[in-house]
Amino acid sequence: MLSAADIEGYTIPPSPDPSQGSGYVSKPNVTTGRTAEASHRRRKQEANFQCPIPGCKSTFTRSFNLKGHLRSHNEEKPFQCKWPGCGKGFARQHDCKRHEQLHSNFRPFLCDGCQKTFARMDALNRHRE
Ligand SMILES: [Zn+2]
Ligand SMILES: [Zn+2]
Ligand SMILES: [Zn+2]
Repeated sequence: MLSAADIEGYTIPPSPDPSQGSGYVSKPNVTTGRTAEASHRRRKQEANFQCPIPGCKSTFTRSFNLKGHLRSHNEEKPFQCKWPGCGKGFARQHDCKRHEQLHSNFRPFLCDGCQKTFARMDALNRHRE
């Protein structure tokens, strides 16, 4: 499963500004010919930005639109488990809270003497002393 962290870790490649032809930066004086070329390029560069989420395949003409779309992927699971190393995402806060509780109620250390359970090894050791 893909978490929000995975999406955030993805860096969107630098996008060529469709309104600027190559060489624009070094030659700021745009001729009419160059402007026509640029608008021609714009048409050719249609749907140049593809969503990187596997299985999505959405394409966009502008990086700006892709960024907005990526945000919508994140927002599907805006609630993230705060437990270190988990990072599981949830669509509803209720589900997230319930999941986080599983972590805090997780008591894997069992006292074989009295069957009491402990979340942490040191707590169990203290109990056994
Ligand atoms: Zn997508
Ligand atoms: Zn978790
Ligand atoms: Zn005990």
